[in-house]
Amino acid sequence: MNLILMGLPGAGKGTQAERITKKHDVPHISTGDMFRAAIKEGTELGTKAKSFMDAGELVPDEVTIGIVRERLAKDDCSNGFLLDGFPRTVAQADALEDILSSLGKRLDYVLNIDVSKDQLEERLTGRRVSPTSGKTYHVIYNPPKQEGICDVDGSELVQRDDDKPETVRKRLEVNMEQQQPLIDFYEEKGYLRNINGDQDIDVVFEDIEELLKGLHA
Ligand code: ADP
Ligand code: ADP
Repeated sequence: MNLILMGLPGAGKGTQAERITKKHDVPHISTGDMFRAAIKEGTELGTKAKSFMDAGELVPDEVTIGIVRERLAKDDCSNGFLLDGFPRTVAQADALEDILSSLGKRLDYVLNIDVSKDQLEERLTGRRVSPTSGKTYHVIYNPPKQEGICDVDGSELVQRDDDKPETVRKRLEVNMEQQQPLIDFYEEKGYLRNINGDQDIDVVFEDIEELLKGLHA
């Protein structure tokens, strides 16, 4: 089950990825998470990525493609993988085709979670995350059992800087522009599957499962 998860910030990629990977036992490969982990560990990769991330820019393709190539070659990808946040450019999408073919793998689907713009703003500004467990909540749509506290490890939930209302709109616009060429790329190749993300979290997951059933058949 070789999948790419696409969608604008706030579409619910992280939320659905958690469910998909738990159910199907495939690794969730998020380039954003990998960069954040590298920064925390103070590795060379982290140092390289940090300046771009702080400036709100994409990390250069050669760096990003390199880490994905290494990651997809690991044993735990033998059953499949769920890529999230990669590819972000057509050059990355081209490189991914080469990486997969050199590993004897092929893509199954590119799942595009489609959500209206008004909803996205509300989701992003209401998002809260646990800095330690990484688990994501929403103040209204997916609240923790105790307000402001992570269900998993009891840590205090925080708001990401880039989820503040003043930056959200701009971020969505920039991402929309970046994403369109990739949607076109995968649509043309026949991999794209649109998922209606304007539904409850459970219903979105059911729709994804319905689609994935076809892969096991
Ligand atoms: P992404 O990874 O695509 O940026 P997230 O999975 O972090 O998105 O979801 C963004 C916010 O919206 C989170 O606060 C999450 O709890 C909430 N959310 C996710 N899916 C839904 C949904 N279907 N309906 C309502 N809220 C959702
Ligand atoms: P966001 O929802 O803010 O885009 P991500 O966690 O997906 O969050 O990514 C955080 C940052 O990591 C991005 O702003 C970018 O600098 C970098 N990044 C993540 N994935 C990629 C990628 N595929 N190509 C280039 N840069 C990336």
